[in-house]
Amino acid sequence: MSRVRVLKEELVSLISAGEVIENPASIVKELIENAFDAGASQIEVEIREGGIDTIVVSDNGSGILRDDCPICILRYSTSKVSTREDIEAISTYGFRGEALASIAAVANLKIDTRHKDEELGTQLVSRVGEEPIIIDSARPHGTRIEVTDLFKRMPARLKHLDSATRESQIVHEIVMKHASIRHDVGFRFIRDGSIIVDCPPLQSSRERVLSLWGTELAKALIDIQYSEAGIIIHGFIVRPPASRGNRGREYFSICSRPIEDRRLSQAVEEAYSTLLMKGRFPICAIDIEVDLTRVDANVHPTKREVRVQEIDSIIVLVKRVVRDALTGYQDHAETGLLGDYVEEDLTTTTEREKTESSLTTQARLDLVEEASLLDIIPGSVAVDTDALSGVFRVIGQTQNLYLLLDVDDGLVIVDQHAAHERIVYERLRKEVNSGRLIVQELLEPIVLKLDSTSREKILELTDILETLGYSISEFGGNEIIVSSTPEVLGQRASEDELIALVDRILDIGSTAKEQFMDDIVRLTACHSSIRAGQSLSNREIRDLIVELAKTPNMYNCCHGRPSIVKLTRKELDKRFGRDGPEAITRYKARHRM
Ligand code: ADP
Ligand code: MG
Repeated sequence: MSRVRVLKEELVSLISAGEVIENPASIVKELIENAFDAGASQIEVEIREGGIDTIVVSDNGSGILRDDCPICILRYSTSKVSTREDIEAISTYGFRGEALASIAAVANLKIDTRHKDEELGTQLVSRVGEEPIIIDSARPHGTRIEVTDLFKRMPARLKHLDSATRESQIVHEIVMKHASIRHDVGFRFIRDGSIIVDCPPLQSSRERVLSLWGTELAKALIDIQYSEAGIIIHGFIVRPPASRGNRGREYFSICSRPIEDRRLSQAVEEAYSTLLMKGRFPICAIDIEVDLTRVDANVHPTKREVRVQEIDSIIVLVKRVVRDALTGYQDHAETGLLGDYVEEDLTTTTEREKTESSLTTQARLDLVEEASLLDIIPGSVAVDTDALSGVFRVIGQTQNLYLLLDVDDGLVIVDQHAAHERIVYERLRKEVNSGRLIVQELLEPIVLKLDSTSREKILELTDILETLGYSISEFGGNEIIVSSTPEVLGQRASEDELIALVDRILDIGSTAKEQFMDDIVRLTACHSSIRAGQSLSNREIRDLIVELAKTPNMYNCCHGRPSIVKLTRKELDKRFGRDGPEAITRYKARHRM
């Protein structure tokens, strides 16, 4: 950083001066920003009594030259800007040279610092209304600034401060705001002797979220990284059901400078749309990087607002980026029952909106009524395989497609087609590999009419198809005759089904023989399986699940789609608002705790 000098009058008038110090948090904010500007990679904030008693901010940045110490607490003294051009593209957090002077005017200030180029440290002690004193200091490097007795000589302003608890919270928020954006810098926040925040420098988004908020949110984090026409949007969002009851954890910044902008909040909330319950808000930290000449940080006395050219199109972009990130994510939900992880099939906003709106209130009520009347298989089925170690109870089927199971710690939903397809595929593959494929001779061979190219192609494949259970031979004209199929096809071995199967076989294209055979086994499994729309009795459901539990790779159908989704009790509780700090508060209130 260059030398500190007092700004010329001409520059002073360009800077919208304002009252900087409102409360302890505004001091902390200024001191953190100074540490950033000094290139610090580690910042520690310590407060006592909400900061009204003491605030200490220490950093490992460049330090201040001894000769600059008395100047930097004068009004309009800064090392950060010196020309009109500098003000037009401000890359530092500070630029008005006001903060230290304003703090020195309302509180006692002690600066311990050692500049990286100086051998000796300096201590400056400034007491309100007195000349500052400068002595040697034993500080190793960087700067430590201690602020005490805030507003001591200004009872009117002291009276306007909140309780120490509330002031602490506001300081905590300032630290969180910066820490959620600047993952390159390590932060420590100590309140009345207790460490509240402690995160090392150079963390990934996930590591930072883990340090700040714990595993729940870190697991639900989605990284955002987008760049277009000189605009970079990066940071993270957190996928539902994780959310907040207020906007307190929607962090936005422009070029790493925290800002508050209702329109940005709104854009992100709209992107979440119906993924969040009414009254719930997203958790996110999004930084928008644009060319500095397009940013005017100089519009608000405490720099809370930043004016950016083309902000309207940036807001539209942010909404799109967040929506895409939410649509594209793949959830990994834990399945205690099945002792492994399954891919959660995520419904996009629009799909979800569609299903929700297609159910009238009456229909929803009917569903609830019916659910309680479902005939449940008496007794539970215990399965003693390794994979399916738990006990489940069949609840029934919904949409003639999804099977519902009640398990120890939640609800398991199984896609009947995907599940059956996996079972049949594994069975067929075993039979083919061991050379013991079970084949059914058709009582009446089926004649298929094909175009000449298709017919040629299929006839070229007769050998392979034969090993897979399909006996095919030439017939007159453009026809072929099928006289046997794998047994699993059963009644499905009809003309229409076989035509559809032939079409899909012709679609496979050229692959290695082994892959080709595997593809046909998959197709056969798909055509042989229980379909969507087919109704199943609870006994059939139970048998299917028991079969599935014995199958390797049971969490996906053989085309990679998930076959099982689990909603844990914990997740259900969260979605129904039975979990989290609000529930605890409600509980305590109810029991007068
Ligand atoms: P500004 O940040 O707008 O320049 P301040 O009053 O906040 O004004 O600080 C005045 C000057 O003191 C800064 O320009 C900088 O040179 C120096 N300074 C303040 N805090 C630090 C720090 N933590 N490390 C190094 N230099 C600092
Ligand atoms: Mg500053």
